[in-house]
Amino acid sequence: MPGRLEHKVAIITGGGSGIGLESATLFAREGAAVLLADINLDAAQKAADAIAKKYPNARALAVKADVGKEADVKAMVDRAVQEWGRLDVMFNNAGIMHPDDDNALNTEERVWDLTMQINLKGVWWGCKYAILAMRQNPTDAAKGLTVGGSIINTASFVALMGAATPQLAYTASKGAVLAMSRELAMVHAKEGIRVNSICPGPLKTPLLMNFLNTAEKRDRRLVHLPMGRFGEAIEVAQGALFLASSESSYMTGQDFKVEGGLTAAYVTPL
Ligand code: NAD
Repeated sequence: MPGRLEHKVAIITGGGSGIGLESATLFAREGAAVLLADINLDAAQKAADAIAKKYPNARALAVKADVGKEADVKAMVDRAVQEWGRLDVMFNNAGIMHPDDDNALNTEERVWDLTMQINLKGVWWGCKYAILAMRQNPTDAAKGLTVGGSIINTASFVALMGAATPQLAYTASKGAVLAMSRELAMVHAKEGIRVNSICPGPLKTPLLMNFLNTAEKRDRRLVHLPMGRFGEAIEVAQGALFLASSESSYMTGQDFKVEGGLTAAYVTPL
């Protein structure tokens, strides 16, 4: 059985942890060459080594990149194309949740700016350089390779619903990711470049669990989750794999929700 991403080349930002790590492992299992980009090179390298150990034929490469810096994003895309000759999947997944992010009155401008720099500008630049690379993709019909590709941008359920436990900059940045992705999907639809957002629900990853560091904080959220549990990073990675593969070939401009039914909920089961 050929893998679902056989012969394809993927970049995953934030590949050293959480959703990025699980996605990189899954994409590699499905045959993609995977470039794991992370501001934490040690974490990305550990992830790439673990992938190589698990799947000896896998092509996994770790690079240091701060997605909040345009030059780093360009260099990361250039590196993937240099190594493997093309770019089929760009997963703009890296993001931060700043500990001082709060409501309109208490959030400092530096927190707002840093959050936008990484969560929004980082995604914009990832899209920009991916589009430029995907336009140049050589076609190889025998391998099922075409010009164009799939861009996946990580937003969040908070882009779709309000929370009385505010993180204003984070929420605004994720709402902007949805709007930007939709527009890019329209602009590039006829070039064979698909752009979808993925909206994870609250997950058991360091990003959220470092923040929800007391039972009281966790319980405040758990009551709203229909399944009564936080999600796992792998459950979002499975969604990302679908968006990355040609199984989703007629999907673009979508807010793809992987949130355990959270955004459909009014009253949740006892
Ligand atoms: P995580 O903290 O486990 O992993 C994030 C990774 O991104 C880390 O390896 C980190 O080093 C890297 N990173 C941080 N800043 C970076 C930068 N400037 N440049 C490059 N890499 C950087 O987080 P996660 O839970 O896997 O989150 C991944 C994405 O999913 C984020 O965009 C996050 O906002 C989004 N998300 C997470 C949840 C959740 O509950 N965990 C819910 C909705 C959306």
